[in-house]
Amino acid sequence: MRLRAPCTPTPRAWTVELRSHTSGLLLACRQCRHDNNSTVAATSARSAALTHLARHAHQDTLPPHLRTCQCHERGCRWHRPHRGCAGTIRLLLACERGGRVWRLADTCTACAAATAHAAVVPDTALLTPRPALAGPRRRRQPSEPDARIRVREMLSYLAAALPDGTSPATRLIALQCALRISTSLRVSLPRGLLRSLRLGADPRPWQELEQARWLRRTPERADDEVAAVLLDAVVLGQAPARRDRRHAADWALRASSPSRVGALGPLPQLMSVYLTAHSRPETGQGLIEADRTAYECGIQPAELPPVLEQLAAAGLLNAWRITADTEDLRWILQLL
Ligand SMILES: [Zn+2]
Ligand SMILES: [Zn+2]
Ligand SMILES: [Zn+2]
Repeated sequence: MRLRAPCTPTPRAWTVELRSHTSGLLLACRQCRHDNNSTVAATSARSAALTHLARHAHQDTLPPHLRTCQCHERGCRWHRPHRGCAGTIRLLLACERGGRVWRLADTCTACAAATAHAAVVPDTALLTPRPALAGPRRRRQPSEPDARIRVREMLSYLAAALPDGTSPATRLIALQCALRISTSLRVSLPRGLLRSLRLGADPRPWQELEQARWLRRTPERADDEVAAVLLDAVVLGQAPARRDRRHAADWALRASSPSRVGALGPLPQLMSVYLTAHSRPETGQGLIEADRTAYECGIQPAELPPVLEQLAAAGLLNAWRITADTEDLRWILQLL
């Protein structure tokens, strides 16, 4: 009997480059043939690049045990040195050269954490094997730690997927949409929910998301909701159980503290969700690089101190400081 040579698994790393072209930007994929290259308008280039990468990730699936750290396979050239690969393999979306190069690759936790301008693609659905359907199905209660992690990852992912300069109001709405999408990629946000975020009557965040080609509004089925279909193919392919996501969306709504900081505007609300999601639930303490906090909330590092002061004045933060040498942001939330 002749043994067949083992087939090499498809390397799960794809890179798209956006090059200047007379009629917009040329989307060049390093894995596709040249004749697949196409030109796109500058405003939709990011979304076109992500859609293209997502298509590769969906086509070249591998069982979890065959997925390896593609960063390691290429000599860990994508990040500063660290002690070696460790942790779960997940999809990492990374951006280089100021948004001209986008890469989606299976990456271990250690390499992901060391990579600049990168976000782990939220969730788990493609990685966690479903429990066997033996015996009666029990309804699992989504837990609060899960909600925190999901919100944290989604904020990080949205920082990569939405254009720089996307407003805090738009990020709050994008977070709710991404966590509440149905399996048919649709979402409808009740106007009551938008009012509680104090974003009820403002069409601008929706327009901003449409311009970024991140979603498209659809005719409402009822007067008291805004309906849309999400166009972000990366997030869709990775969505975890809907019940878990909705739980995380409700948690994010509460963590935005509309009753305490809503009157101050969307940025303090977004910061409130961000800091709560990155705090230890028992102590309210948190620590993260100041630069990363600013980037993931869509602001400049210099804009951090005034908004943190606002949160302290509103009684949401007990204390905060940015350490001069490491530029780490440390804070303590006022626990309710
Ligand atoms: Zn391609
Ligand atoms: Zn690496
Ligand atoms: Zn690695």
